[in-house]
Amino acid sequence: MSKEKSRSHSTPHRQSQGGKDFRKRVQRSKSQTDAPAVQPASRPRAGNPSAKPGIMLKAGREKSLQRRHPWIFSGAVECIDGAPASGDTLPVRDAAGNFLAWAAYNADSQITARVWSWHEKDVIDKAFFRNRIANALAARRALGLLPSPAGGGGAGGEGARLVHGESDGLPGLIVDQYGDVLVMQLGSAGPEHWRDTFADILQEQCAPVCIYERSDSDGRELEGLPKRCGVVRGTLPEKVEVTENGLRFAVDVAEGQKTGYYLDQRDNRALTGTLAQDKDVLNCFCYTGGFSLYALRGGAKSVLSIDASEGALELAKRNVELNGLNASKAEWQCADVFGALRKLRDQNRKFDLIVLDPPKFAPTAAFAEKASRAYKDINLLGFKLLRPGGLLFTYSCSGGISDDLFQKIIAGAALDAGVDAQIVKKLHAAADHPVLLSFPEGAYLKGLVLRVAG
Ligand code: SAH
Repeated sequence: MSKEKSRSHSTPHRQSQGGKDFRKRVQRSKSQTDAPAVQPASRPRAGNPSAKPGIMLKAGREKSLQRRHPWIFSGAVECIDGAPASGDTLPVRDAAGNFLAWAAYNADSQITARVWSWHEKDVIDKAFFRNRIANALAARRALGLLPSPAGGGGAGGEGARLVHGESDGLPGLIVDQYGDVLVMQLGSAGPEHWRDTFADILQEQCAPVCIYERSDSDGRELEGLPKRCGVVRGTLPEKVEVTENGLRFAVDVAEGQKTGYYLDQRDNRALTGTLAQDKDVLNCFCYTGGFSLYALRGGAKSVLSIDASEGALELAKRNVELNGLNASKAEWQCADVFGALRKLRDQNRKFDLIVLDPPKFAPTAAFAEKASRAYKDINLLGFKLLRPGGLLFTYSCSGGISDDLFQKIIAGAALDAGVDAQIVKKLHAAADHPVLLSFPEGAYLKGLVLRVAG
């Protein structure tokens, strides 16, 4: 990964609001080494102010664009002609003046521009975006991933990620569907500029009762954009629900994390459910109870769920009720997982199946070292709490931690815990979170199912 890429910060992944304590810890120790977590954007040189607005790259810096990676880092830019505003669409040219792409400019970001199109003949307008969004919906429909009809799922309808940013050719735009409500998240200056256009198109193509905006991801700050949340179209129903594999989940689109729910773990939660029969289950970072509900429905003997967010746990308990599941088998703890796992170890508690699904400890590769320690810590404790033959479902949604590194961390944790373990399955985000081949950053969620020796 190039030095510039290691500073990237806007992959469309999870927020870690609940992980603030951990982030504070990381940032504190970072400042001790005088390495700022985020460097201020180094502005590219201004070119000819009276020329047509456009971006000229430094000689030899066109290569990543030729491989169709959609980000243009400030360090690759020779100069910016004209006086463009953030959000404007600009042509990007190589040092010899050859056209490379149309991209959304952001004066305040280290990612100076994000590509909308690779074709000079394209006009970036409402029709262009109508087409892109229709393509994203059609791809999901073709794979049987679209609640049918889109937006017509009713209050308790199914959910899907309808638009997954860069991987759908729409950098910075996330759209999640929960029944007949859409939640839109704008992560960079391009989609910010086209906000109303996107809302119009989504209304036209999906006919939801409400489009709610949750443009409050951490990444916006790094893009120089203020946080913005609220209703964009229609009216937000008092209760929003999503049905997933027959389980009902109340979703707090206004106050919940991310867009209100973690659709990416849908298939992985289902897998956990199929393996939970008669097991003592521990679900760490449980949020609104996703993995816990599947385990309860799957016949778990007991399910202990831990999260630092009081609000998330309230909703989790409501979700157990909503599904008529046996609440007496469920135990809830509002606690910091790092400390709670140590307590469980000291109490000599043992489990047959453990889920560790923490927030992103490493939003960028700059955080990888500290984050590795945190991942190792919780996984080491997880291994120690498992009975022989037990299963560990362990995840990382950190853009700054690669698949290889994650596996190495887990191997180190098993070694230090003194257990032999096998990988029995590798897991990723559900298929409505596709990964564009030229944008490997899209594969932020990685999971391992491990079985410790019996
Ligand atoms: N597994 C969930 C998603 C987890 S999101 C699902 O399937 O829906 C991460 C969760 O970790 C959030 O709910 C957040 O509140 C919680 N969290 C973050 N840091 C924590 C900490 N140190 N201790 C406990 N919970 C934490």
